[in-house]
This record gives sequence, C-alpha cells and structure tokens, in this order.
Amino acid sequence: MHSRTPYIAANWKMHKTVAEAAEFVDALLPRIAATQSDVVICPPFTALAEVVERRRGTAVKVAAQNMHEADSGAFTGEVSGPMLVELDVEAVVLGHSERRQYFSETDEALARKVAAALAHELEPILCVGESEEARDAGETEGVLERQLQADLAAIDDLAVGGVVIAYEPIWAIGTGRTATPEQAQEACAFIRDVLRARGAAAEEVRILYGGSVKPANAAELLALPDVDGALVGGASLDPEEFAAIVDAT
Ligand code: PEP
Repeated sequence: MHSRTPYIAANWKMHKTVAEAAEFVDALLPRIAATQSDVVICPPFTALAEVVERRRGTAVKVAAQNMHEADSGAFTGEVSGPMLVELDVEAVVLGHSERRQYFSETDEALARKVAAALAHELEPILCVGESEEARDAGETEGVLERQLQADLAAIDDLAVGGVVIAYEPIWAIGTGRTATPEQAQEACAFIRDVLRARGAAAEEVRILYGGSVKPANAAELLALPDVDGALVGGASLDPEEFAAIVDAT
C-alpha cells in the first residue's frame, strides 16, 4: 500500500450554469463531509467564483479546465494564472484530450502552461493518454512517454512532485468503455516509471485514471496500486453519483 492521498476530480467540461453549479455544491458537501480524500471540482470559468465561495471552509478544492501560459496580453478569449489565483482557484486541468483534439493544444504550449501554473502555485492536473489507433498499434507506452517528456520539459525534476497526472485513454472518455483494471494499472505504473527515470520523486506523484469512471467501477479502479484517484467526466455531473465515487476511495 502506498501513502498517497486519493484524489478525485470532477471535470464538468462545458456543463452547468452558475445556478446549477451552486445547487450541485450544496448537494455534494454533506455527502462527502467525512472523506479523507482530496476532492476537486473543475467547473467552467463562469462558475469558478461561485464554487469557490460555496466550498469555503471545506476541504474541497477548485480547478479551472484550462489556462493561458502568459500572465496577461492580447490573447482574446483566454484566462491567465493570476486571474485564477485571484479567485482562490487552487488547480488547473491541462492537456485534456478534448483540448488537444478540438483546440489544437500542443505539447509545446503545454510545457509552458505546466511551468506557468506551478509558478503561480496552481496545481497542474496534466492529462495524457493514447488514441484507440495508437493502442491497437501497440504504441500506448510510446505516446505516454512522449507526452510526459514534452509536457514536463520546462520544469525541473523536483517540481514534478507537485504535478498530478491523469491517465485518460481517449477511447475511454465519454464512451462508456472503461479501461480494464489491468490496462489502467499497466499504464499508470508505466507513467510512474517514466517519472522515476527522469529523476522525479515518482512515489509522491498522484496518478489518476480517467475514462468512463462510474460508481459501479470506481472501487475496483481505485484499489489498483498505481491508481491514486480518478478524473471523472459524465458521472461527476450528478452529486449523488460523484459522491459515490468519492466514497469508493
Ligand atoms: C473526462 O472528461 O476527463 C472524462 C474522463 O470523461 P468521462 O468520465 O465522461 O469518460
């Protein structure tokens, strides 16, 4: 058994208005009051302030779903680290496959974003994961290694300990096709090996699994030795379902 605190994050994507976010937090908090795990909510930018205020005085953390690497500038539509810090946001999801796929987010940009997030004391939740084609071609490990090396290239080994990694096989996101426990364990252990090989304190790093995590499969996935938590999309939109996943830690 490892001593890493379990980490369960709710990625709402482009769901929930401010009013819906408030309703969710009020319903969630009493359901998870006794948890010892780290619980993180990742609302859309518009609901960040509301979720921050509603969770004040609790252990729930709040993360943005993206940020720009610059502190300010002519970047229409973007949000910066200092803007998130001003709201008391504590973490930021970086490199989600939807951002890589639909918004052409590159590993080069991610390297800058990871460094900028850490510089502002925002905890990066860095997403990596292979496509179905890459898995079928036996390239899963190659993809993971390339993404990790590139996305963590701008920070030193010591700083890697402050990054949360989410292993999210693209073929399992929003599809109902969860990775098998063997696949999840193998990939998360490989990620830890890559971090260890580059000289990071790999035993400290929380590595999450993401991809169709539900109350019914959470306990099995979260019991795996190298899976320290979950990044939850669809099932995080309902406070009861999300609380049941937190309960599985
Ligand atoms: C995600 O959004 O990161 C995710 C894993 O989604 P889902 O749980 O819906 O597959």
